[in-house]
Amino acid sequence: MTVWNLGSINADFIYQVPHLPGPGETLSSTDRQVFLGGKGTNMSVAAAQAGAHVSHIGAVGPDGRWAVDRLMEYGVDTRHIAQVETETCQAMIFVDPDGENMIVLHPGANMKIPPEILEQALTRAETGDWLVMQNETILQPEAATLASKMGLKVAYAAAPFDAEKVQAVLDHLDLLFLNAVEAQQLEEATGTSPAKLPVENVIVTQGGDGATWFGPDGPVHVAALQVEPVDTTGAGDTFTGYVLAGLDRGMPMAQAMGLANTAAALMVMRHGTADVIPDLAEVQSFRA
Ligand code: ATP
Repeated sequence: MTVWNLGSINADFIYQVPHLPGPGETLSSTDRQVFLGGKGTNMSVAAAQAGAHVSHIGAVGPDGRWAVDRLMEYGVDTRHIAQVETETCQAMIFVDPDGENMIVLHPGANMKIPPEILEQALTRAETGDWLVMQNETILQPEAATLASKMGLKVAYAAAPFDAEKVQAVLDHLDLLFLNAVEAQQLEEATGTSPAKLPVENVIVTQGGDGATWFGPDGPVHVAALQVEPVDTTGAGDTFTGYVLAGLDRGMPMAQAMGLANTAAALMVMRHGTADVIPDLAEVQSFRA
């Protein structure tokens, strides 16, 4: 089976600065690194590291070949990543000595994914495959409609949160991922708690408290591992990728969530995102 991911591909430019710049200020950085990023990328890498066959649907600009190559190195099928004229999405991240940051995101090619790429990809899909989406690209309603019509199972991670965008795909979802803040925002927008949403499976992640699955048999809580967090960036995306890879292999939901909790716990113990997502062997051998 395949996990199809309509997802963002970002270049994260991280600048170390002596302090965060103020209005009108010009500042020299003391260091700069470039990382592969974006929620879509992180989820593709996580699901591939968990052993799933993953096919990424997205777009990069003429400057994005390296990002596609990196995804390939992680075993992700990149045939359905278009190269468009618009530049690859860039995140400009300024980090001060205390670790405080400022981020400017230029969405670029993530907002130019050609609809035909999506259609071509999904004609290769098989009944029972998963499609996952987040909120950093275009085409989510089109993808959800097409995929559910074709008998795929559809998952959506509602981040960055936008109530209207969640509601636009809700009827097609088999699985919705929310963090605790997003769950509250969605409840405020719809007047409906996660348990009562018209989606068969809703998972609410709760940071160090683990995650709760609201499924057909009522809520099931899976506890997080007790670890010392140093950087939670990418933990949620890793959790999502691992859950989908587990389900794709036929695991029961609670077991897939247990595996995902361990992968995410490893992520919060380290700095970085896509490049430090643990593989299945590391996750299976880790004991907190
Ligand atoms: P992100 O920081 O990546 O945006 P998120 O807000 O999407 O994360 P969280 O609910 O904070 O999602 O965390 C996702 C998962 O990561 C949790 O369900 C848990 O498995 C793991 N996790 C997060 N924080 C901790 C922690 N302090 N200790 C152990 N596991 C954690």
